[in-house]
Parts: sequence; structure tokens; C-alpha cells
Amino acid sequence: MTHEGGCKCGAVAFEADGEIEKVIDCNCSICRPKGYLHWFVPEAAFRLKTDDAAMGAFTFKSHKLIHRFCKTCGVAPFVQGPGTVAVNARALHGVDIQALNVQPFDGASL
Ligand SMILES: [Zn+2]
Repeated sequence: MTHEGGCKCGAVAFEADGEIEKVIDCNCSICRPKGYLHWFVPEAAFRLKTDDAAMGAFTFKSHKLIHRFCKTCGVAPFVQGPGTVAVNARALHGVDIQALNVQPFDGASL
């Protein structure tokens, strides 16, 4: 199925195809404070429907993961990686967060 998501103000909207079999709750220094619940999808299953220029980008360490956020409202709806997109399940519309299969990931120890 296709899931729709985006930020608070509407400047960022996207679609992603697939079933949300699990989400990753990482405890690293960026995922923990941002509250990401990562749902990984292949790049080809992800479509940004709004202007890319509406978003900021933050990278660190290896700079392979691009943490995107809305320049207007600050919501962080996804992270771009090589070949994949980690969609923040919290930014999806109509998804019951409490019903998700949450897998902890110890990114803080990497
Ligand atoms: Zn926004």
C-alpha cells in the first residue's frame, strides 16, 4: 500500500510504498532527541511531492545519512541514505504509532 506523510505546515509532503513490518527506535545522539521511528523503504518506493528546496539537510560523521527537515515548521519526516529512505513513521498520516512493531537499535554504541 501507499502511505502518505509530511510535516506540520504542509511544505513537505511525500508518499512511500510498502508495508510497515517494523520500525527502528535508535538511541543515538540525533535519533533519540528527534524521536524518529525509522521505517526503511527502498529509494524507488519513495516520492517527494513538494519542492526539495523547502527542506534543510543535516549530516555528520560519515555524512552518508542526510537528515532532512522542514525549513518552516522544523518537522523531520525522513532521512535519506544510500539507496534507502528512512521514513519517520511519526510523520505518516493515519498510522497507529502504538500498534507498530518497534525494534530498539543501539546506535549510541556505534
Ligand atoms: Zn513544515
